[in-house]
Amino acid sequence: MKAKVYLDFNATHPILPQVLEAVVHAEQQAFGNPSSLHWAGRAARKALYEARRKLALGLGVSPDSILFTGSATEANNLVFRGHYEAFPSARTYAVSAVEHPSVLRAAEALRNKRARVLFLDVDRDGQVDPRKLRVVLEKAGLEGGLLSLMAANNETGVLFPVSEAAEIAHAHGMLFHTDAVQALGKVPFDLESMGADFASFSAHKIGGPKGVGLLYVKNKRSMEPFILGGSQEFGLRAGTENVAGAVGFAKAFEIASEHLDAFEAHTRALKEVAVCRLKERIGGVIVHSEGARTLPSTLSIGFEGVDGDALLMGLDMEGYALSSGSACSSGKIEPSHVLLAMGVPRRVAQASLRVSLSLSTTRKEVEGLCDAVEGVVARLRASR
Ligand code: PLP
Repeated sequence: MKAKVYLDFNATHPILPQVLEAVVHAEQQAFGNPSSLHWAGRAARKALYEARRKLALGLGVSPDSILFTGSATEANNLVFRGHYEAFPSARTYAVSAVEHPSVLRAAEALRNKRARVLFLDVDRDGQVDPRKLRVVLEKAGLEGGLLSLMAANNETGVLFPVSEAAEIAHAHGMLFHTDAVQALGKVPFDLESMGADFASFSAHKIGGPKGVGLLYVKNKRSMEPFILGGSQEFGLRAGTENVAGAVGFAKAFEIASEHLDAFEAHTRALKEVAVCRLKERIGGVIVHSEGARTLPSTLSIGFEGVDGDALLMGLDMEGYALSSGSACSSGKIEPSHVLLAMGVPRRVAQASLRVSLSLSTTRKEVEGLCDAVEGVVARLRASR
């Protein structure tokens, strides 16, 4: 039996044992409905409040500015739909072309509802240049609306200049949203000083439970609720709260924050090992976003002359779980919109892999992956 090696942490991180323990404890001890007035409700309310307080403290914001959601996808949708409903006279949206589909589709849906939507280009490294951003917004004559720029890209790991983007948005009378799902727990940031008006997060990317997201809303008047019902989450997201999920998110964030420096040093060193070995041993290797500042734990790499899905399947058979540079959309395998937006040729985009690492990843696993990639690439090239 081949060892199973998981190197797809940007897709999801397995729940951490201490988080699982906290979730089970909360399910048992804080099982009440937080809206109930009796002792069980009070215990749940307290657990929920504590989770919110801890997350807010770690993010550098006040507890009443964060809403729990069912996912970051929901949080992103809430921002766009909520803003659209709250500002009928400022329905202008600018988003980078490399955002997660939950941002891109939400913006497109508003375009179908007659909003003005601008998709911002990225350079060859997948980066947004703040100077160009300023010029594009000026040229487009944007005044009011919402600018959305992710903190870190899920495919390339590129870190975006969010503070500058927030400043530029504000200079244009726009609010600023950042999808910070991939940055949380991987690089330091402080929401308040970043100047974001909205920010989205997800628990399961940092070892928390699946099905829990978070939305930071600086000013609650800047959005209308989208999910209607009870008055939970300050009246902005109805539905009985996932108390154990919130507790698990807070625990995962606490652990990630404690290990931030170790995570950075460990994963960066492993990424360097992977890049060096792959470049040394295999011809026709393209490291995407090599000239940009990236997450220490994310590597996007293309191989000339192979089929990416065959490569992924070959590596899966060797026990390695990774993502490819293509995605299944409407039943068809399409190259990644992120790589295409960077000007990467379709054939290279399709022949690309994303390796995403964690604090638990070992050097042996990374070296084993490089050996496996070398073998599978050679086989695929030989069979062409
Ligand atoms: N935004 C980014 C950048 C992501 O990487 C993901 C998950 O892949 C999401 C949003 C969606 O998160 P969730 O799985 O919580 O819906």
